[in-house]
Amino acid sequence: MSCCRQSLPAERSRAGFVERGIFALIVFLNGAAAAQSLPSYVDPEITGALREISTGQIQSDIEKLVGFETRSTLSAQDPASIGSGRGIGAARQWIRSEFERYARDCSGCLEVKTDSFIEPIGERIPAPTELTNVYAVLKGTSSEDSRRIVVVTGHYDSRNSNPTDGSGPAPGANDDASGTAVSLECARVLSKLKFPGTIIFLAVSGEEEGLYGSKHFAELARRSGWQVQAVLSNDIVGGDRSPGQDPKRVRVFSESIAYQASEKDIRMIRALGGENDSPSRTLARYITASARLYQPGITPVLEFRLDRYLRGGDHISFNREGFAAVRLTEFRENFNHQHQNPRTENGTEYGDLAKFVDFEYVANVARVNAAALAELGRAPGPPENVRLETRGLANESTLHWEPPPDGRGAVYRILWRSTSAPDWESLQSVAGSLTRATVPVSKDNVIFAVQALDEAGHRSLPVLPSPER
Ligand SMILES: [Zn+2]
Repeated sequence: MSCCRQSLPAERSRAGFVERGIFALIVFLNGAAAAQSLPSYVDPEITGALREISTGQIQSDIEKLVGFETRSTLSAQDPASIGSGRGIGAARQWIRSEFERYARDCSGCLEVKTDSFIEPIGERIPAPTELTNVYAVLKGTSSEDSRRIVVVTGHYDSRNSNPTDGSGPAPGANDDASGTAVSLECARVLSKLKFPGTIIFLAVSGEEEGLYGSKHFAELARRSGWQVQAVLSNDIVGGDRSPGQDPKRVRVFSESIAYQASEKDIRMIRALGGENDSPSRTLARYITASARLYQPGITPVLEFRLDRYLRGGDHISFNREGFAAVRLTEFRENFNHQHQNPRTENGTEYGDLAKFVDFEYVANVARVNAAALAELGRAPGPPENVRLETRGLANESTLHWEPPPDGRGAVYRILWRSTSAPDWESLQSVAGSLTRATVPVSKDNVIFAVQALDEAGHRSLPVLPSPER
């Protein structure tokens, strides 16, 4: 059957592609069924980095963060409290010192920075309060590619039953020492590798008071013209050990229509579809594909929803500034173990305590993150000006595009799926010398995207085409 025109054997011999984590699916074209797979390259250095992710290190990071007793944004941050090891100031100093330690271990490859500002009085900010985001930049080795940035983030502030209690215990082991530990552990293992693109490891404050830290950082990124192509926000990734938890799955929440979609964009979506194809949702699919390749010990589950009911998180701050950003959260939350004063009532234990966290689960979530960050850090930029020709009525589809500015597109892939399918089903590879291809599939029945691969096979984010008339 020649329906799919895959050039995989040639790819494999020329670029050393190997198949793993095969994603076997059936596609129906012109009434015929054909078994398909989406093979890709597994980078042994990335596999090695995932192996380096340590459950013991994650446990010690989370217990250390819990040990500050409270990390409320309103808690103490004066020199005396920092010296005593209690409050958000002490937590911030420790996160910074950890990033600095990793920087020393990689001969200064990480630049450790802070982003401090005064948040004025607000609903949950009773007095002007200094907030500080802490981050480490692993600058890309290529002058062109290093402009592209991927970000992993968690919030290091915590809260108890009262969001404005700045002094009572607020251990915040799951929410969100777990996400902070993911940022730290990704920084520790990925700083041992080299990437053409830039990776930022971020820990933000003020989430529980109103996403203030991430808002400030996302605005900084937009104002500075940073080309942030992906933000992975980890919030409540502790894998709470309560009955009913599924330790083999982590949810990936993504917005449907991009927050910054214009009226024209929305009219187009209404006419032709695309409500499941925001850049954030494309990123969510990319994360699931990376996990199929690198087998982190856990399966990311696509949640086609911005966030859970009644809840929000830092990814939303980045969406609002026009960036692709998703939220990773454990499969089943125990609400007795979040936003609670630690206590026992009628035999039920409340509080976000370290003993409820499954450290191996957090390590696996860190592997999900590290796989996607590393592959994006090594991939070429995505193809530009991707267009789907819609001039005539035809049962085949022609796409064209421009190479990524870094010139590293050795192979392109046209991906597609039926309009009702959640994830990519089929692909056609196109030689890197070409920027136009026709596939024997009707554009009326599928959704397309195009991605670039480098010589080794690292995949860029896919780009959805705009119709061209
Ligand atoms: Zn949280």
